[in-house]
Amino acid sequence: MSKGHTIPILHLARLLLRRQISLTIFTTPANRPFITASLPAGAAASIVELPFPHDIPEIPAGVESTDKLPSVDSLFPHFALATERIRPDFESALENLRPWPSFMVSDGFLWWTEDSAEKFGIPRLVFHGMSNHAASVSRAVAGDRLLFGPESDDELIAVTRFPGVRVCKSDFEESARSLDPKGPFYDFVMKAFGAPSRSYGYIMNSFYEFEPVFADHLNGLGKQRYYSVGPLCLAEKEVVLAAKPKPKPAWIKWLDEKLVEGKSVLYVAFGSQAEISEEQLEEIARGLEDSEVDFLWVIRKGGGGLEERVKERGIVVGEWVDQRGILGHVSVGGFLSHCGWNSVMEGVCAGVPMLAWPMMAEQPLNARMVAEEVKVGIRVEGSGRTGFVRRGALENAVRELMAGEKGKEVRRNAKEYAKKARKAMEEGNGSSWKTLNLLIDELCNKKE
Ligand code: UDP
Repeated sequence: MSKGHTIPILHLARLLLRRQISLTIFTTPANRPFITASLPAGAAASIVELPFPHDIPEIPAGVESTDKLPSVDSLFPHFALATERIRPDFESALENLRPWPSFMVSDGFLWWTEDSAEKFGIPRLVFHGMSNHAASVSRAVAGDRLLFGPESDDELIAVTRFPGVRVCKSDFEESARSLDPKGPFYDFVMKAFGAPSRSYGYIMNSFYEFEPVFADHLNGLGKQRYYSVGPLCLAEKEVVLAAKPKPKPAWIKWLDEKLVEGKSVLYVAFGSQAEISEEQLEEIARGLEDSEVDFLWVIRKGGGGLEERVKERGIVVGEWVDQRGILGHVSVGGFLSHCGWNSVMEGVCAGVPMLAWPMMAEQPLNARMVAEEVKVGIRVEGSGRTGFVRRGALENAVRELMAGEKGKEVRRNAKEYAKKARKAMEEGNGSSWKTLNLLIDELCNKKE
């Protein structure tokens, strides 16, 4: 689907390899190099390449992941629906697999793999790249269509099943709220959210101690279990995803130079999918400069000319970076993030407090989790699916995070959760380690 889905699934692959599970990974030609580079040398993993259809009118030829779509918002349903065309090749490759697989893990958006799994009698685990919190709250809201009436987009409404949790209309995708049977999303949403209910269970990239109420809630719902086996970014000690750039990239040297000032740098990144207007980019640049905090800003799309503009205070990077390496750098003391779930987990694991600026998908719910539930970050005022953040609001938020009282509190919390995350992944006794063992045991051993 995208790097944000591929990366955590590859981390899961590493965890399975460490438990002597041998793997077959199905992918498409354009995605293969990244996957090959991400696997450890000599791993018990083989890769099967399946052709991706290139005759879909809405999708530019050669695009095999949502990261490469010119507009994720409008083209995502077409892309997701097109993946079903892979199914015949997938099934003929599956049929010939030897030894016969004990189980299958596939992305939640590849709903048709559920049908393939059922056809061959293979238990399927849905990889759910979201938090237990977002999964619980969106289910609760979807279950009560009357929740949103004529309220304005940002009027807060209590989610009765979860005392203290409040959401607003604009926290949710338009499609999830109205589900217009004539809209482009309808077909896809029905398929993608229907199939997982027939699966064996869900893999969650989270750890129990981070969101116990929501993990318990999901596991109390019915026949399927939600296995929290993360944070998956802690699957290996070294950062090995994608070949490490050598020599040291300019931005790491820049971070090294900032070392004398302690944890002074704000890392700014809005993930791989966000589309930000020129006007908003300009406002971000001004807000960051006015805060007088040093910053490292990774921009995936747009941002031309900013590099020169902000060079007194910050550095702008327009290429793929090792995000976990940056978050782990001693100079980094804050993370302005779009709250993609991987980024939240990576920030928490690094013990770096966040400024939450959600944009799309379930990010507004993640931002609520970060700022209102676990309190490892501060919400940027005005941010959201339909919001616009003024420079003054960003300046205040940055100052508060890096030097204010609230900043101190969320920094303490982030450090505490970083410890808990490591404990959860500890070999032997960690909660996530034990949950994955239990799952493997259920799937691989008990049937024999
Ligand atoms: N990432 C990275 N380098 C980049 C951009 C992104 O390593 O230059 C990684 C990041 O560490 C995370 C993933 O890509 O693991 C992005 O996932 P997330 O859920 O945070 O956001 P998305 O991109 O899916 O919106």
